[in-house]
Order: sequence, then structure tokens, then C-alpha cells
Amino acid sequence: MMSSFLSPDNYMQDLLKYVDPSGENGNEPQGNSSGNHGSPGGGKTFLEAFKKLCKTHGIEYEPGKPIPEKLRTDAFLKEFQEVFFPEMPMEYVLKLSIHGYVFGKKDEGVTIAQQGNDLITGYSRVYFNENYVFDSPESMFYIMGHEFVHVSQNMELMGEDYSLLNTIWMNDVKEFHAYQWDQDMGKRHYKFEWRSNDNNIMNYIDRLKYSNFYWLINIIHP
Ligand SMILES: [Zn+2]
Repeated sequence: MMSSFLSPDNYMQDLLKYVDPSGENGNEPQGNSSGNHGSPGGGKTFLEAFKKLCKTHGIEYEPGKPIPEKLRTDAFLKEFQEVFFPEMPMEYVLKLSIHGYVFGKKDEGVTIAQQGNDLITGYSRVYFNENYVFDSPESMFYIMGHEFVHVSQNMELMGEDYSLLNTIWMNDVKEFHAYQWDQDMGKRHYKFEWRSNDNNIMNYIDRLKYSNFYWLINIIHP
């Protein structure tokens, strides 16, 4: 039954099956204490990689500090992506920017799917709220990765009716998986609240999960 299937606890159990280390993926995206490539101390690797990136700009990054003023640019967002999300298919990202979108106070980022002839083209524009994305390297990582889950979902929906994206249920499906990514990467534990139990959810729930997108798993994470 829809109602029991949609209870968040049931759902979470189902989803966790997909990312179980003994499952189809063969690695362990859950938790933040181990690296994705089997090396202990993934967090340390993350920080080292960030320091190294800052050094290419002649900047010594001090852990715990916000991202240095000089690096708060669109160009740096791109450099960050190249290091931490190296396999992300960026040809589908038409924009990766802190400019061009007016955010609500609490919004950290947004991904806008491109429309063509009333269809989803598979291309997206990604904007970040500069009041959050530069808080720390970890913030940049989590905010960017969350939006990249949405980019990947828009790629998966290529060719489908654009009006799909204006439904609450589709929004719920997309956010459910994006929050799951946040959580599995160690951001924080979420209790996801479904706002809808539309039957269409069943047709998309498996297709839009992040573990389908290998470039969101082969990453350097905090
Ligand atoms: Zn989201």
C-alpha cells in the first residue's frame, strides 16, 4: 500500500539497502569516518586536498576558517568541483555561479532544469547562496554535492514533460534522494517528511536515487 510504503522509516530501510556495502555498489558511501576508497580518515584527505587547492593560489588555508575572501569566485567553484567531484559530467551544467539568482534567507543553493519545447532537456543551471557556500570547505562540498544530485536527476529526466518538475511529489522524490546523499556523506541526519503520496512517486523513486550516478560516489568527501 502507498501509505505504508511512504512512511519515512520504511522508506529509509528500503533505500539503505541500495547503498549497503554488500550491495550492488561495492563501496560504502555511508558515514563520514571512512574514506570512499578504503583509506581511513577520509576527512583528513578532504582537508589536505582543500589546502593543496588553496596553495595553487598562494594561500595557506587554516582549518576551521571560512573560505578565504580571494577565493569566493565562480572560478574557484569550478576548481573545487574538479578536485572533489572529478567525474561530474559538467557538460550538463550550463552555469555554476554565485551570481544570477535571488535567494531566500535560508536557501543554500538551487538547481534549475533547462526547458525546451516544454520538455526537460537534461541541462541545468546551478546557483549558490554566497552567504552559505563559503562558510567552510565542508559547506561548499555539501551544498555543491546536493545540487549535483539534482543536476543528475534532471539528466535522468531528459525528454520528459517539463510540467513534471512543478509537482510537489516530484519535488519530494528529488529532495528525498538529495537529502539522503547529504546524510550518507556525513552532513547530518535528516527526517524526511513526505508532503504527497501521489502514485507517480513509485515510477520515479528508483530512477532518481543518487547511487545510480557513479560520479556522486567516486569523490573526496569530508
Ligand atoms: Zn535540494
